Amino acid sequence: MPADRAHVVVVGAGVTGLLTGVRCALAGHRVTVLDQGPIPNPAATSYDQHRVLRALDPEDLASSRRAATADRLWQELEAVLGARFYYRVGVLSSWPADVVERIRSTAVDAGIRVRVAAPADYPHVGFPPDTVPILERDAGVLLAERVLRVAAGWLDRRPAVTLRPGQRVVEVDSRTGWVRLANGTALSPDLTVVAAGPWSSDLVDLPTVLHRQTTVYLRPPADLLPGWRSAPAAGRLGVDGRGWLVPPTEGTLVKLSSAAACRTVAAMTGDVGAGTVAADDPDASDEMRLAAEIMTASVITGIDRYEVVKVGRCHYTVDAETDGGRLVRVGTTVWARAATGGDGFRTAPLIADQLADVVTRSGTVDCTDVPREAEVG
Ligand SMILES: Cc1cc2nc3c(=O)[nH]c(=O)nc-3n(C[C@H](O)[C@H](O)[C@H](O)COP(=O)(O)OP(=O)(O)OC[C@H]3O[C@@H](n4cnc5c(N)ncnc54)[C@H](O)[C@@H]3O)c2cc1C
Repeated sequence: MPADRAHVVVVGAGVTGLLTGVRCALAGHRVTVLDQGPIPNPAATSYDQHRVLRALDPEDLASSRRAATADRLWQELEAVLGARFYYRVGVLSSWPADVVERIRSTAVDAGIRVRVAAPADYPHVGFPPDTVPILERDAGVLLAERVLRVAAGWLDRRPAVTLRPGQRVVEVDSRTGWVRLANGTALSPDLTVVAAGPWSSDLVDLPTVLHRQTTVYLRPPADLLPGWRSAPAAGRLGVDGRGWLVPPTEGTLVKLSSAAACRTVAAMTGDVGAGTVAADDPDASDEMRLAAEIMTASVITGIDRYEVVKVGRCHYTVDAETDGGRLVRVGTTVWARAATGGDGFRTAPLIADQLADVVTRSGTVDCTDVPREAEVG
């Protein structure tokens, strides 16, 4: 295989697959992206108004350091793709006063800029009592749907890239890297990347745990919109300190949820992506109960004045062992991101860079140089 022009097949056109395609194309490789639906696919778990990008994890310095580079990578992607989709409005989180110094020192060690914020500057946010808000400054909101559309459009204009919507993959042979499609044809690339989100477990045998999260989308009253302009995303909110919100960046809706509305499930049901929960859905009463709990948890103040536009739900997978995201080499030329974790959107450029590097190196070095399991997510 020539080192400078490998053929990479990516199964799945969510954020992982599309950004991997972008990075591999930029590295000079030939890329085919397959998706069972349209590209981008509204049923993908990446497909939502927005996702939050933050780096600080006070319990995990190494992960904070790694994630801090995502801020730079997303800004680079805006320049490469020629579109704006990352709004660095910051991310607030509230902490007990006695841990604030420790968090500040972790942030300094990780190279993350934070400052203690004044609750009065954010009158719409429901901070738990006796907590101190900390603002992570090099963080913010990614307009997720726009990322997917822009990346797909950019790939579509590259002569060395083929986008193939409506192509369901039914088998990936981890020994040979062959990819078999539902229409009976097969592809034999130099490198195969399985980026099929929660569906990945149909194609590769990796132990993952499926999570389902209920979300509520709200439209603020007109007189409060100026206050929301440039508002940060925020977490650890509400009466139990488990709520979070994504602000109405660029005319989107406010999205609210809570760690309490996230649970483990056996299988995906109904709409996926950020699908609206339909009234006749078998889980509708469960979803509506959770939505009501989110609405009454004091995550934002004066919530009665907001219009509830929809109740949605979405799924993501975690690695059964680490409870986080994981990029795994499942065969000599096959890699899979079956577990993306709850932060799988913001970390996608890190994964894409790692995979582009693997493709480039695999043309010149023996693939066995790469560890069998590499966790980077
Ligand atoms: C409520 C909620 C909030 C979240 N918030 C954040 C956040 O703030 N920040 C963050 O970083 N992350 C967040 N996440 C996680 C993040 O959204 C996911 O980790 C990430 O979007 C996964 O992207 P992906 O490309 O790997 O998978 P997906 O986006 O699911 O894409 C998989 C694609 O593969 C295709 N596919 C599947 N099977 C096949 C097949 N057999 N053949 C062909 N194509 C196939 C699908 O059609 C789909 O298009 C959140 C998740 C949820 C549920």
